[in-house]
Amino acid sequence: MRTKKKLSIIQNEENIELYISSIVSGADVRDGKITSLTIYRVKDGSKTIIKGKLFSDSTGDGDAAYYSGADYEVTVNGHMGMTNMWNVRDTGKPASFPDCSAWAIDLADKPFPGRGDTKSIYGQSREMALGGWYWESGMEKDPILFAEYSRDLNLRAMYSAWHTLKNIDHDYENYIINHSSFIGGKRESRRFLGDVILTKCDVHKKYTFPDACVPATWDFDVHYPDSRFYATFTEGAGFLSRDCHEKFDRPYFIPYRCLYSRNIENLFLAGRNISVTHDALGSVRVMRTGGMMGEVIGKAAYVCIKHSCDPRGVYQEHLSELIELMKA
Ligand SMILES: Cc1cc2nc3c(=O)[nH]c(=O)nc-3n(C[C@H](O)[C@H](O)[C@H](O)COP(=O)(O)OP(=O)(O)OC[C@H]3O[C@@H](n4cnc5c(N)ncnc54)[C@H](O)[C@@H]3O)c2cc1C
Repeated sequence: MRTKKKLSIIQNEENIELYISSIVSGADVRDGKITSLTIYRVKDGSKTIIKGKLFSDSTGDGDAAYYSGADYEVTVNGHMGMTNMWNVRDTGKPASFPDCSAWAIDLADKPFPGRGDTKSIYGQSREMALGGWYWESGMEKDPILFAEYSRDLNLRAMYSAWHTLKNIDHDYENYIINHSSFIGGKRESRRFLGDVILTKCDVHKKYTFPDACVPATWDFDVHYPDSRFYATFTEGAGFLSRDCHEKFDRPYFIPYRCLYSRNIENLFLAGRNISVTHDALGSVRVMRTGGMMGEVIGKAAYVCIKHSCDPRGVYQEHLSELIELMKA
């Protein structure tokens, strides 16, 4: 229902043309500017070319920016991982689960949250400790090239844990897997480079950028494999994580120059793919912060069209106008 409501708001917006079930699959770039993006409709394989003066990438992995050749960084080993959330429910009657030991991760004598009295990182126990955000993997491998590996490891971890609980421990007798996300939620992959690359140090030093725009209020919250479970992990790959929080004086304002590409002249960025370091991403990657970036680049795009300039030109020539718009 919530999805339907969101969809109808977008569909009723006059200035939005929505290409549903479609992904950006290519970019045409001339003289450092994107002239068009190609989108691929997954349902029927059709392709559409979308031309434009200004483009914005908020695809998480930054596919449009990547195809257009925008500069980026990626932390290949030691980035935050992907979670496929899952949960279980009590059916009130015995429920069996097939033996999947042939391909399961061998957890027979290994601890994991929800098994016996092993708790989650938040101190939750039993079913509340199964399938939360900390069932997270992929942190040691390239987040783009190994995205499917990471999803598969998450699903294997879930089925292996459930097989262990049901068929080895003979626990959770009346429970079934209630929900399992087959699309993983990623936290970190490519970070595209703008005219400023925000660092943790900028934030701690309370450096005030003249183009400060989006308030960040979430701690530096970076995830690592949970050392309590090193012995549980398989093939050197972690699938249970913990969060390390570092506080700062809030709010901190992200500069506008993190929200556009430094080498593709007409490309805005919003969300977890903006111009920050791995550490700084721990704070800026959250949903409402990303949403506010969208508001700012919408206003900046208006300034670009009004003055026939590019995103950098907004900073160089029309910053005061953007600041006035942001007050509205
Ligand atoms: C398990 C989990 C729990 C979390 N909990 C919280 C929380 O409680 N609060 C919070 O604020 N944050 C939370 N986060 C973090 C937050 O959800 C993400 O960091 C945030 O969603 C990143 O937003 P984004 O839009 O930049 O990227 P994404 O969420 O990755 O969204 C990218 C979008 O682009 C689409 N896309 C991808 N590729 C293409 C393409 N080629 N063409 C077109 N579209 C494309 C995707 O389908 C997706 O819709 C959580 C993350 C996870 C994984």
